[in-house]
Amino acid sequence: MNINNEKIVLASRPSGMPSHSHFRFESTDAREPENGEVLVKTLYISVDPYMRGRMNDRKSYVPPFAIDEPLSGGVIGQVVSSLSSELEEGDIVIGNLPWQRYITAADVSLRKLNPEAAPITASLGILGMPGLTAYFGLLDIGNPQEGETVVVSGAAGAVGTAVGQIAKIKGARVVGIAGSDEKLAYLKEELGFDEVINYKTDDLQQSLKKACPEGVDVYFDNVGGEISDAVLSLINQGARIPLCGQISLYNLEKQDTGPRIQGQLLINSALMKGFIVSDYASGFEQGADEMAKWLREGKLKYKESIIEGFENTVDAFIGLFKGENIGKQLVKVADPEMI
Ligand code: NAP
Repeated sequence: MNINNEKIVLASRPSGMPSHSHFRFESTDAREPENGEVLVKTLYISVDPYMRGRMNDRKSYVPPFAIDEPLSGGVIGQVVSSLSSELEEGDIVIGNLPWQRYITAADVSLRKLNPEAAPITASLGILGMPGLTAYFGLLDIGNPQEGETVVVSGAAGAVGTAVGQIAKIKGARVVGIAGSDEKLAYLKEELGFDEVINYKTDDLQQSLKKACPEGVDVYFDNVGGEISDAVLSLINQGARIPLCGQISLYNLEKQDTGPRIQGQLLINSALMKGFIVSDYASGFEQGADEMAKWLREGKLKYKESIIEGFENTVDAFIGLFKGENIGKQLVKVADPEMI
């Protein structure tokens, strides 16, 4: 097939912060679809922190990316050729797909999006994996009650922005921790967080004490490390700690040893529970419906950081570990075509 196709493969496994040398762009053929398949043109690629873990050769809840094979993740595309009875040319679809400009995929591996219902990119963010992570992790494990204090780290990211707003919907006081004053201003002025802390410039322990005079009832942990050590020193009796991510540790070259927190959990009868969003797969439809309702009612807002160009996908991914994004980080590869 005469299409200029390109893919991004894992060239080598990083130890520490990933760089361009760990990725390679390669040209590749676009295969004609067979029965039950479609050819998809990539429109948006989602870059996510968990992909860093897949670059390591280590057992986890998803297998590692293979060397010389394309990385993959959430992708929105448009069907440009179809041999499927379910999908036709022009349909906008989402799936877990390789980082390629064009992909031949089985129709059963894709979900058709309705661009009339919500902007299509919301399916990779607030109404997709990160939004559902916030929804289930906070409501099922955190279970915030009216008047309680909820602290969220990584507060200005795709998950954190949703966590803080859902906690506000439930009537909690929300304290967000993030890494720039621009992010803090967004959280406070646009999303209505009660208190915000810049972990790079503020005295974290003092600021947390001031922001949480009645202690911490729920800590939604996106980052781990020293930020979490500081928050955990302030938890209340019966505190709940949804353990969502540990981004501050993903690029460490040596094992991190922090305070041993078991004693703190014990004396406070606190619950700390790790989770993977897919644990809640059976509830995704209900969760996305409720999030969409809050969006329509104006109770929930979202922001996207969009980098243009397939060639900038690696920069967008590495930027996650430098705090370059506010809200969901996406790569725009192409505009949909009117077919
Ligand atoms: P994100 O927040 O949109 O992007 C990453 C953000 O993390 C950056 O903007 C940066 O913001 C912050 N960060 C980077 N390095 C850091 C460090 N060393 N210390 C503190 N903060 C750092 O990403 P996301 O998609 O919302 O994911 C947030 C967390 O949830 C990640 O840990 C991710 O792995 C996890 N997650 C878990 C699940 C699950 O199923 N359990 C699902 C989705 C995501 P600052 O400017 O504030 O530093």
